[in-house]
Order: sequence, then C-alpha cells, then structure tokens
Amino acid sequence: MIGLLDGKQNGEGIRWPDGKRIAVMLTFDFDAEFLRISRAKSKGKEIGFSDYSRGQYGPHEGIYRCLDMLDSYGVPATFFVPGIVAETYPEQVKEIHLRGHELACHGYMHESQWGISRAEEEEILEKSEEALKAITGKCPVGHRGPESIIHPFTPELLHERGYLYSSSMKDCDWAYLHQVSGKEIPLVELPGDVMMDDFTYYYFTFSDPAVRAMYTNREVLGNWKAEFDGLAREGDKILVFKLHPQMIGRASRIDMVGRLVAYMQQRGAWIVTCEQAARYVLEQNKEVQSW
Ligand SMILES: [Zn+2]
Repeated sequence: MIGLLDGKQNGEGIRWPDGKRIAVMLTFDFDAEFLRISRAKSKGKEIGFSDYSRGQYGPHEGIYRCLDMLDSYGVPATFFVPGIVAETYPEQVKEIHLRGHELACHGYMHESQWGISRAEEEEILEKSEEALKAITGKCPVGHRGPESIIHPFTPELLHERGYLYSSSMKDCDWAYLHQVSGKEIPLVELPGDVMMDDFTYYYFTFSDPAVRAMYTNREVLGNWKAEFDGLAREGDKILVFKLHPQMIGRASRIDMVGRLVAYMQQRGAWIVTCEQAARYVLEQNKEVQSW
C-alpha cells in the first residue's frame, strides 16, 4: 500500500537518562517562502507577492526571535532546513549553526510530491546535503520530508546515506526503529503529530472561510501543556514540537513558547535535539546492525 512504512514500536524498552520521564524536541521547519511555493505547486497554482512575503517573515524576523528565545532558556533545538533556504538565506542559517543548534535535511526545494522515484529522491538528498554541508562542514544526520511526505524507499535510502533518524511519521508517542523487509535497521523514527504543529492553530487565509479562526496563544499553550503533562505522567515517551519561524516567530507567540519551555524545564523534561535523542536510542539498541 502506498505510504505504508514498515515500523516497529520499541519505545517500551527505552528509559530516558537520569530518570527523565519525557524527551522533548523543539523542532523548527525553516521553510521561508518555499513552503507556500511548494504547497501551491502541488495544487497546480502559483502564489502572489503577499503569500510570498508571509513566508519571508521567517528569515526576516521570526528566526531571530526563535533563536533568542532558545538562548534565554538555554535549550538546544533542531532546525529542518531545505537546501534552497540555506543558499538563499546563508546568514540566518549560519546563525542557527553558530548558536549551537542542529541543522537537518528537509528537501531541496521543499519538494512535497508523491510518486517520485528513488533516483529522484537521491538527487534531492544529495543537493540538500551539499547546501547544509557548506554551512556546517558535515552531512546532516536527520531528515523530515517536506509536509512530512516520505516514500516507501525513504528509510532504506536514509540509512544508506548515513542518516541516524527520520521525523515524518505520526503513528505513536515512542521513538522506534524502522524496518526494511522485516528487519530492524539503525534508523530511528521520531514521530510527531499535527497537534504539536503551529500551523494547525495559527494558519489563516481570507480565501477559505473554513480556516478563518486562529486559536489564541492561551489555548495553544493549554493544549501543549496538557499533552506534555499526559505523556510525562505515562513516562518514557517523546514529544516533538513542529514549529515554523514564519508562524511562531511573532512576538506574542514566541513568548508563549518560552513560557512552555520554562514549564517543561521545571518539571524535569529532557529537552534535546533530535540527533541527541536518536543517538541515545541507537545506543540502547546496539545489537541492531547496519548492513
Ligand atoms: Zn516544511
């Protein structure tokens, strides 16, 4: 079946370090204008100047507020950056790297297409890796498909190219290892959900009456705190936030995220990059070998 990937839950075997009850990953998809361009393209449309500039709010304003907030609370984050964004906004992407955060792969042109071939995806990965490598000096170890779209061959391809994790699935609250042909491979999946995605709450357009209402920051904070509390109570789960500088980087919204971070810190969350979480999970599953 198209889109069905062969994963296995193994989260119950994982205990986070130092008795931490939950691993939290603050992830930012730094898409700039290319998210809206790719979304319009997949509908056979083009975007106008106004929509274009909404995406540019990310590199022009939002990214700096996100970075300042992370500095204020002393927490690391993972930024999924399309290759074209690294090339168009090198200063901003360098700044992310210089402030000690992880850069991970998110397509080259933010390609959110179904039905591409393995060779096409390989080409996209190669270009994306080169663009990030030009900034960090090393290949990324994590991948998130643009609009979370990955393909049946993607996990195997990522593993072959030296990736340690993927973060596109939405099937559970555990970190787990992907399987290829029924055999586990050392590629960790860090799943999330639209519930932890800022676009779910803040996306607004005049053209579609069905998506007119934005949530208040208080409502979003309430939802996210409740999800954190529930998972922390259950224990040994993961919580992956998917934020976009163009959306969450408004003054009032990033302030709300800061309050959420403080709340989670006070309750002993293990707030780490996706790479740190993936390396820990792989360490716990040393018996799973590469081929
Ligand atoms: Zn994206």
